[in-house]
Parts: sequence; structure tokens; C-alpha cells
Amino acid sequence: MTSPTTPVRVRYAPSPTGIPHIGNIRTALFCWILAQQTEGQFIVRIEDTDRSRYDADAEKAIFESLDWLGLSWNEGPGKGGPHAPYIQSERQQTYIDAALKLIEAGHAYFDDTTPEQLHALRERQRAAKQPPRYDGRGRHRSSDEIEESRKAGLPITVRLKVPEHGSVSFNDAVRGKITFEVKELDDFVILKSDEMPTYHLAHILDDHAMGVTHVIRGDEWISSTPRHLLIHQALGIEPPEYVHVPLILGKDKAKLSKRHGATSALEYRDLGFLPDAVFNFMCLLGWSPGDDIEVMSREEIVRRFSIDRINDSPATFDSEKLEWMNGVYIRNMDKDQLMSELLPFMERPEAEGGLPDSVARPIDRDYMRSLLPLVHERLKLLTEGTETLGFFFADNVNPSAEDLPGRKMDAAMTEQALEAALGLCKTASPFEPEHLEGEYRALAEKIEMKPGQLFSPIRVATTGKSFAPPLFDTMAAIGQNRCVERIESAIKILRSAAVTSDE
Ligand code: GLU
Repeated sequence: MTSPTTPVRVRYAPSPTGIPHIGNIRTALFCWILAQQTEGQFIVRIEDTDRSRYDADAEKAIFESLDWLGLSWNEGPGKGGPHAPYIQSERQQTYIDAALKLIEAGHAYFDDTTPEQLHALRERQRAAKQPPRYDGRGRHRSSDEIEESRKAGLPITVRLKVPEHGSVSFNDAVRGKITFEVKELDDFVILKSDEMPTYHLAHILDDHAMGVTHVIRGDEWISSTPRHLLIHQALGIEPPEYVHVPLILGKDKAKLSKRHGATSALEYRDLGFLPDAVFNFMCLLGWSPGDDIEVMSREEIVRRFSIDRINDSPATFDSEKLEWMNGVYIRNMDKDQLMSELLPFMERPEAEGGLPDSVARPIDRDYMRSLLPLVHERLKLLTEGTETLGFFFADNVNPSAEDLPGRKMDAAMTEQALEAALGLCKTASPFEPEHLEGEYRALAEKIEMKPGQLFSPIRVATTGKSFAPPLFDTMAAIGQNRCVERIESAIKILRSAAVTSDE
């Protein structure tokens, strides 16, 4: 199937049973893109008919994920729309009515088989090495028998009468024609004993009522599609176009799971990823524009997306690529944007990854702005601000005595380097990068050390780190007085370590 050109009506229909993972949100993303491209409608519908697995936090996370990724919906919870309500538990009566109609038309029946009887049936089948399947016994129950069971408080379900022979097929937009023999299927439940519909019945009624043109969903649903086609037939309605999108695997080719690291969109938000980068990365999970271009704006993605280029083989989730892409998006930001993205992370409490609690909030904006050019190119995650910029804000950096020596330097040589560095630090004027570099290079020559040997202990003394932005820019940004204090304190640390090791 070629990509639609007329306005689509597509829906994202999550079940609020767990925090939505990347693969699940990816279908929302594809829906959103297609709706934008064709100037159609993106519908959000909450499929909460499995009341035993309902999780309010999961429902909240669904909306938060959509908001964070900028996937705004035209119809759905919070927005309303012509087919409200968009929450299945609030549409229960329509499912009951449809199930009763199917019974009346002879396409479905009440079944009073108890869970214990079903269990015994499965055990018998297992013992006989037969595939477990419902044997259709409910087809022969009279309405009086069902009434009696109902009065006795037995659970009553409604099952679809699946034809005994024949096949059903559909044209999947990604995989082409798929055919199933119906004899593989048993009479399945469409209305449960709590009078809530199963997913199979509910989503079909809703998609139909809501005028959904394309059902975009994970390809784990392909095996259920014959059931869905049979329900359509029984209801006398046309199925939508099916677009089954491929599974997402980790780099080790195993199904993406917790083991591969973060798996939900919100975790990526908390790890310091930008929504635009995650959006860009996710659209490439199972789709490609057909050339090597990977970094694309939303507009470009919306313009170039096409169903024909959705892959039928599994997508690979490469978290290193996501990090790289995030770095590209960070580099493309201007200073003010970057600052407003970094600050919320840095201003969190220390225990949540923010700057030390001793650093006053709010952080000095002007100072922060002056520091950004030093780190902008190197940042990959917004959470890295605390680590890469923290020492500019901290009262002291407390390097350890072992970290202070540079390569091939002992404690005595390190102390000598720092003493010399301190003297110059006190007098250097102007305290500016270029001037400092000239002076310190001359000093290295004077005390007969390699520049690197002199600079390493200074770097660790002033920043607490062996890797930091260019040294003299960094020193100038820290400021002369604080550099003096930090070098003095590093010398003390070295000396007391020497005393301890002599004891
Ligand atoms: N509620 C189903 C799920 O969360 C929806 C599947 C579909 O899109 O039809 O997986």
C-alpha cells in the first residue's frame, strides 16, 4: 500500500497497565506523523477494560510521555471530541449492547463454562498432546441452563462463534497479504464475566465508531488479526487498513527489555535527553527515509515519512546512536536554549543529581552563560551539566592526593609544581586565558618541567578533575582568588597525605 494522501484518522490506544515503553510510544509517534502529514486526526483512547491490571500511574505516564514528546492529540482524554468518551471503561454499555446483538444474530453465545472446567479441559488436552483450545461446549447450552448458572452465581461470558472452515486474509500495509485458516481458532471470549469487553471486541467497536482509517500497532498483534477480521464479519463492518510495525530489538538481537537500560520515554527525559532527539531517533526505529540522512527536523520527518518505507524486519535500538544524536541536537541549540535546558537539572537537589546543596539556588544566570562555550561542544546529555560545570559553582573541589600528580610525577615534584603555580597565580595580570597560557608555559620552562606536567596538577587542583575544559579558559572563569585558594588547598592536601604516609 502506498502512503495515504487523504486525511487519516489514526489512534494510539494504550492500555494503562504499565509505564509505556519506547516500542509502544513509537506507534503513537508514527500515528502522529501520519496525521500531520495528511492533515488528518490523531486520536488517543485509553483501553482500560482490564480492571484488574489498571494502574493510575501508568495512565499518567502515558499522557506525560505524549506531552514530553510533543505528540499532541486532536481527540481524546482532556481534549474531548465528537466520539467522546475516549476511555473504554466509560463506554461499557456500547460493548454490552454489541455483544447482545451478536448473540441475537447467532454470531455469539453465552457461555457458563467455569474457570475450573476450562482448566480441566486444558489439562486433558495437554495430557493427550493436543494444543490447548476451548472446545465450543457453550454452543450447546440452552438459555434456561445459562439462566440457572447465572442465578447460581457462575461466571457468564460471551464467546464469538468462529466458523469451522475457511480462511480470512487481509492486506497488511507493511507485510502484504496475510492469510489465516480459521480452523486454527477456537470460540474466543468477547465479553468477560465482569461484563467488560475483551480488547478484541472493544477496539473494533471503537475504531469503527471513531472512524479510524488506519490501525497502526505493533506486529505482536498480527496473530490476533484473524479474530478481529471475524468480529468485523460478524458485525457486518469493514476493517480498517492495518499497519503492523516491527518489533524493536536490543543490539544483541533480543527483544528490548529492562536489561538493555532505559525502556520508557520518561526515563530518557530524566536521563537528560531532548524530546526532539528522542523523536528523531524513534522515528528511525522501523522506518527510514531511504537515504543516509538521519538527523531530521520534525517538519522534515513529517514531509518524508511514508508507510511504504516501514520495515518488515525488527528494528535495532542502539542507545549509543541515541546519545550521539542527542549530542547533535545539543550542539545545534543556541546558548539561551541550552541554558534553560541545563538549569533544571543542575538546580535539582544534590541527591537527585543536581549541584551540591551548598551552592545557592537559583544559579547565577550570567555566570552560567559565560561558562557554556567551554562545554557546549562536549555535552551529550543534559544531566552532564552538574558533572562538567559543577566545579565552577562549588566552594571547593577537594581533589585527592593521588589524583594530583601528572604522568611520571611523584608527590615532591607535584608539590613543587603547585608551589610554583601558586606564586604565578597570585600575581598573574590580567587573569585572562591567553596571558595565563603564556606565563605558565614560561614557568614550566623555568622550573624545567614539561608543560603537561605543570598543567596536570593545576587542572586537578582547580577543578578536581583530570579531564576538564581548556585549562586557562577554565582558570579565568573560576577567577583568580578562587584559583589561589584551590591551589593552596591542594598543596595542603598533598602535604597531609605525605605526613600520613610517613607515619
Ligand atoms: N490496548 C492495546 C495495547 O496497548 C492496543 C493495541 C492496538 O493498537 O490495537 O497494546
